[in-house]
Amino acid sequence: PVAIVVDAGYDQHTIEEEILRPFGFQVIERACHGDAAAVVKAVAGADAVLVRESPITEEALDAMPNCRVIVRYGVGVDNIDRDAAARRGIYVANVPDYGVEEVSDQTLALFFAVVRRVATRDRAVREGAWNVSRSEPMYRIAGRTLGIIGYGRIGAAFHRKCSTLGFARTLVHDSNVHELPFGAEHVELDELIEQADVISLHVPLRPSTQHIISRERIARMRPGTVVLNTSRGGLIDEEALAEALHSGHLGGAGIDVYSKEPPQRDHPLFTTPNTVLSDHTAWYSEASVSELQTKAAQEVARVFSGGEPL
Ligand code: NAD
Repeated sequence: PVAIVVDAGYDQHTIEEEILRPFGFQVIERACHGDAAAVVKAVAGADAVLVRESPITEEALDAMPNCRVIVRYGVGVDNIDRDAAARRGIYVANVPDYGVEEVSDQTLALFFAVVRRVATRDRAVREGAWNVSRSEPMYRIAGRTLGIIGYGRIGAAFHRKCSTLGFARTLVHDSNVHELPFGAEHVELDELIEQADVISLHVPLRPSTQHIISRERIARMRPGTVVLNTSRGGLIDEEALAEALHSGHLGGAGIDVYSKEPPQRDHPLFTTPNTVLSDHTAWYSEASVSELQTKAAQEVARVFSGGEPL
């Protein structure tokens, strides 16, 4: 059988080859750069498809009558016509759980960069400044209250990494999680919003979580609160967050994700004080790419060994 990799963008596919060799697979990469017509040609004859961003349309599915499984390198599968795949009995799988260490590390990195002013001090030192930190308030982490919204894989890993920082309290909002380690407390969302000094988002973006950090909730945050978002941009009313940073109501923000990506050059958070930004790279390390390739290939292997993908 043939596994076609549609523009994964990873240098090599030796990981996929090793996992799929026992099933007799040949692994071939074809770059399509998001072009639907190119995908139709690229996938012809595939028994399995591994795809990153390019669209897998009904027409593409028609071009691969032997295909048994399509795996998305990543979480979201909205580039794949799942209904059309289901009608043809093709499994659609994703990799929901890669890069947990990286995203929780990045959340911590953004947090430290914000509260210790790492990025602005770095620029200032290069420009000849020295010891002007009093113009930029820095606060002590120990004794503060941490708030974590969403306590799944990443939220829990972030909590574990924060557990030695001396936070006085950790408030968690996630109705699906019951046992909390390190003395954390379950609270309702609005209690967390009003009491936390640091608020970190780790919930998925759904219609019910869109703008969960609304203008109204931002207004009810404690003065000086730091907001961290490595989850999805649409969780926050970005305009309202920017206004609250400009006005000095909030103390800072660490942001990896934006409602539209890449963000436009005049994005409201590009000019706000004490804001540290990254480019949706929280998930990335060489190890997490290998993990992604491994887990994606394992989904193909699972189907070809007679199972259903998890
Ligand atoms: P997960 O599914 O393990 O955990 C999500 C948690 O959120 C679950 O425990 C769920 O109960 C909880 N939840 C859902 N809706 C909620 C709500 N309204 N209020 C409170 N809790 C709610 O997911 P994860 O692996 O921890 O990932 C979290 C998010 O991180 C993902 O949804 C994704 O958007 C984001 N992510 C970002 C990157 C990046 O590179 N920046 C990489 C991977 C994942």
